[in-house]
Order: sequence, then structure tokens, then C-alpha cells
Amino acid sequence: MSGGRRVSNSIKERIEQAVARGHSHEQICTDLDVDATTVNDVIAAMDKVAAIKDVFTIKQRIGQGQDVCRNGHPLDPENTYVKPSNGKRECRICKTARNKRPRQHGAA
Ligand SMILES: [Zn+2]
Repeated sequence: MSGGRRVSNSIKERIEQAVARGHSHEQICTDLDVDATTVNDVIAAMDKVAAIKDVFTIKQRIGQGQDVCRNGHPLDPENTYVKPSNGKRECRICKTARNKRPRQHGAA
């Protein structure tokens, strides 16, 4: 292969489908006979689209008068933890995600 990195739409679609099916990066390269850079490019583009969609969802929820946390999770009774000490509301999904994150060493 030589020349630029133009990805044909059919290859792009097939990579997107493989990603959606949960195939690994390596698997996709082998299955579709494409180079890693191409796969990376397609995945990066997909991530961008997903991020934009996320923002839309958050805006939509706020527009509908729904309470959401800053990550767009609905602050409904099930997902909301109210701190008994100060009555502040916390998103349970974010709280769990925060707790899962590995601790950073030392001070910043
Ligand atoms: Zn949240």
C-alpha cells in the first residue's frame, strides 16, 4: 500500500460495525486487512461523534426541565444521593465512578 490515508466509506463502515460488535483493535486490523492507523482514525472519529451526541443528550434533558448532574446522568430519586450532613445532592453513578478510579500518588 502506498500514498495517502484516504479511507473508503465501505472500509470505514466495516470498521465501525466491527467496533460496535466489540471487536478488538487487532482483530479488526486482521479481519479487514487494514492498517492500525486507519482503524485508529475511524475510532477517533467515532469517539468525536459519540462525545457530540452526549452533549446533545445533556442539553436535551436540561431543556426538558430534567435535573441532571454535570455528566448528564438523571438526578432522579433512584440515582440521587442526598448527603445527610448538608442536604447536598450527589449523582450515584458519578460517585461510584469516582470511587473506582485508582488513587493518585502524592499531591498534584
Ligand atoms: Zn453523574
